[in-house]
Amino acid sequence: MNILLLGSGGREHALAWKLAQSPRCTTLYAAPGNPGIAEHAALVDLDLADHGAVAAFCTAREIGLVVVGPEQPLVDGIADSLHAAGLAVFGPSAAAARLEGSKGFTKELCDDAGIPTATYVRCKSAPEALAALDRFSLPVVIKADGLAAGKGVIIAETRGEAEAAVADMFGGSFGASGAEVVLEEYMTGEEASFFALTDGVSVVPFGSAQDHKRVGDGDTGPNTGGMGAYSPASVLTPALEAEVMARIIRPTVATMAARGTPYSGVLFAGLMLTPDGPKLIEYNCRFGDPECQVLMMRLESDLVDLLLAVAQGRLDTAPVARLGEDAALTIVLAANGYPAAPQRGAPIRLPVVPEDEKIFHAGTALRDGGLVANGGRVLNVTARGGTVTQARDAAYALVDAVDFPGGFCRRDIGAREVAREAI
Ligand code: ATP
Repeated sequence: MNILLLGSGGREHALAWKLAQSPRCTTLYAAPGNPGIAEHAALVDLDLADHGAVAAFCTAREIGLVVVGPEQPLVDGIADSLHAAGLAVFGPSAAAARLEGSKGFTKELCDDAGIPTATYVRCKSAPEALAALDRFSLPVVIKADGLAAGKGVIIAETRGEAEAAVADMFGGSFGASGAEVVLEEYMTGEEASFFALTDGVSVVPFGSAQDHKRVGDGDTGPNTGGMGAYSPASVLTPALEAEVMARIIRPTVATMAARGTPYSGVLFAGLMLTPDGPKLIEYNCRFGDPECQVLMMRLESDLVDLLLAVAQGRLDTAPVARLGEDAALTIVLAANGYPAAPQRGAPIRLPVVPEDEKIFHAGTALRDGGLVANGGRVLNVTARGGTVTQARDAAYALVDAVDFPGGFCRRDIGAREVAREAI
């Protein structure tokens, strides 16, 4: 079967690597892709905003499965357009992708379905939000309703900061995404990511991970798209995973189906493990980046079998999704200046990569036959191990073999898990 993968980051390189391993995959195409993805797929120059062009390509190349990596095309309805053209798509409809595209929508769904989450108020104007602030103690969390590339969340420690954040969001800093704002109670606990595959009816767990959002060691500096991740997250014990499936994931899938907007794809829950049990922070309607890289390293099942079963609404007939018992860890090598002003064009020389390790490309490009940095997050250096500690040691050894003087990484990826494993 011919497969088309949409996207160009480290997440998509990891997906391409796994999709291409499947005996069911005849030709893998990727749009727009990157030089790492090009090792596994034929790159196609398609504008993901032009759904008609993507559908026409799929028909011409007899594509049997389209896998959508990033959230923006899903929120924009690419799955709907491709379904309308009779194609099998891994990724939710626009109506279902609202679980990521509108934080207020998700909070109301939590109310409807009795899903544990922070208390909140949806506000449509600055005066409404300023009045609602009185109902929260400090710190208070202020969120732009729509997509904001991970930058639309402010944790305000003082009333002044909260008022400034409200003014900023309604002042247009996030464009249409800030036309509505959600105020939330501040939750405490450890964060973890949990993934499930669903075709809208059947649901299967697909592993856990923890990522590192801040740019600097010790969780300092500005937020980023993610500087590293590991899987599994041992804080999500089997008992807690069962609780998350029963109290958060299954009620979400059931409610979306009951409303006539079934959710199909990967459901990525950002969780806070509070003293009162796991609570939902947010949903994402696609795999995390870099969490996907560590999940794909651990995946033992055929990815095409799983994603096609989801896309065709027959997940109940698919083979079980098996992740290895071992751990995987990925370290992001970013371009100097990231996240504020990443410098492009720095040369990169990659080492020979041992078996069971992978360097996934994100923001790379080929220039005059050589590899150069072409984005903020550039490479994802990924290794497996019996434990997170072993995976970390292997990944840092590989990082140290990469010749990329124009880049940097955090030196403490996995530290919390390593400390737990040392006990
Ligand atoms: P992402 O980049 O993860 O997609 P996002 O912009 O969609 O981020 P959230 O995941 O909702 O936003 O929030 C970002 C971060 O802010 C969370 O990972 C968490 O650390 C913090 N946060 C969000 N909501 C709360 C809350 N209610 N209490 C405490 N911390 C919170």
